[in-house]
Amino acid sequence: MALQLEYMPEQKAFRAEVRAWMSAHVPKEPLATLEGAVGFAQHREWERTLASGNWGTITWPPEYGGRGANLIEWLIFEEEYYRANAPARANQNGIFLLGPTLMEFGSPEQKTRFLPEMASGAQIWAQAWSEPQAGSDLAAVRASATRDGSDYILRGHKIWSSRATYADWCFGIFRSDPESVRHKGLSFILVPLRQAGVTVRGIRQIHGEPGFAEIFFDDVRVPVGNRVGQEGQGWSIAMATAGFERGLMLRSPARFQATAHKLVELYRQHVSEAEPGLAARVVQAWMDAQAYALNTYMTASRLMAGGAIGVEASLNKIFWSELDLSMHRAAMSLLGARAEIQSHVPDAVDVGGWLEGFMFSLAGPIYAGTNEIQRNIIAERLLELPRG
Ligand SMILES: Cc1cc2nc3c(=O)[nH]c(=O)nc-3n(C[C@H](O)[C@H](O)[C@H](O)COP(=O)(O)OP(=O)(O)OC[C@H]3O[C@@H](n4cnc5c(N)ncnc54)[C@H](O)[C@@H]3O)c2cc1C
Repeated sequence: MALQLEYMPEQKAFRAEVRAWMSAHVPKEPLATLEGAVGFAQHREWERTLASGNWGTITWPPEYGGRGANLIEWLIFEEEYYRANAPARANQNGIFLLGPTLMEFGSPEQKTRFLPEMASGAQIWAQAWSEPQAGSDLAAVRASATRDGSDYILRGHKIWSSRATYADWCFGIFRSDPESVRHKGLSFILVPLRQAGVTVRGIRQIHGEPGFAEIFFDDVRVPVGNRVGQEGQGWSIAMATAGFERGLMLRSPARFQATAHKLVELYRQHVSEAEPGLAARVVQAWMDAQAYALNTYMTASRLMAGGAIGVEASLNKIFWSELDLSMHRAAMSLLGARAEIQSHVPDAVDVGGWLEGFMFSLAGPIYAGTNEIQRNIIAERLLELPRG
């Protein structure tokens, strides 16, 4: 007998509710890029719109203003979100990374002070972990937090901070014990970005927009009450945050299914001029996106039954980042010479956002822990190979 996979009636009702809301609220015209000033303001407004319908933080528990959605509902939500072509999330770092971190490690005051403003889109957060000498090797963090009465004085240099150019606050890890080495003696501190001593300098990326930034801290004073957890506990808190990032929620399968769907459409438009072998690449991409979705449903069911994600997160990260790259490469091949036209230039016709998407897909194997590092994790923890 064939296995019959079916959504429950309440899940179907939930999907219908999301679909109706998205169809009424998603902007008809795409917003300007999230990586530029105009687009960022538009995306901030979109966060407010989502919050007004209570769709901004669906996985947060009701006591923090969320809907307490489970993982299957989250997957359904994401499918409808991408189906509606809804805008990218400006406050992803706040809602998916810092929010859950504060729920687990924050003081009652921090929860009351930060979570509502985060959920409403009033405060946009950036993640300030990487430093010029501390990327893959994050434990090499040098930026310091020196205790001075009831304050810390922050000094140092962070880099590659997504959206920091326009964000309001950042969450960073700083060395609070000057004698410490590596993972010990770090603290997790919340810092307003618009204050004396903080310099945010945008880094112009391959697409020309400066949303990415370096952050310089020159004797920046923040109250001790801005520290999350205990002094010196920063590493374990950061690892819990990274777990939220590398787990299921950073990239939902719906994102890649939507790209695969657009790729199939693009192929249909260009079938007459497509070079040999492209059909196979398009079909493979579509199957991989489906496989990733089915695998994620399986993982979600397992997690809901009390399981843990562990090393599988590293396998997922490699799979989706490589899939994204191969889909965008196939689209570039289909568009031929026109692939190099940016979607906003006046003569751009039928090029979609493929070039911008391609340029961003190049970063997939780097952010949230590079794919080489994920391979190390798989080698050591899953395959139990000796350390290289
Ligand atoms: C789009 C994007 C967004 C980002 N957003 C943020 C953000 O918001 N906040 C933030 O703090 N950071 C952010 N980052 C930074 C990101 O986390 C780092 O780029 C990443 O951790 C790699 O660090 P690195 O750039 O210093 O490279 P390095 O660590 O110097 O690595 C260089 C190369 O060496 C390889 N390598 C390093 N160590 C090993 C090893 N042990 N074994 C095998 N290979 C190794 C790496 O895989 C890589 O290919 C972002 C990066 C990108 C691209």
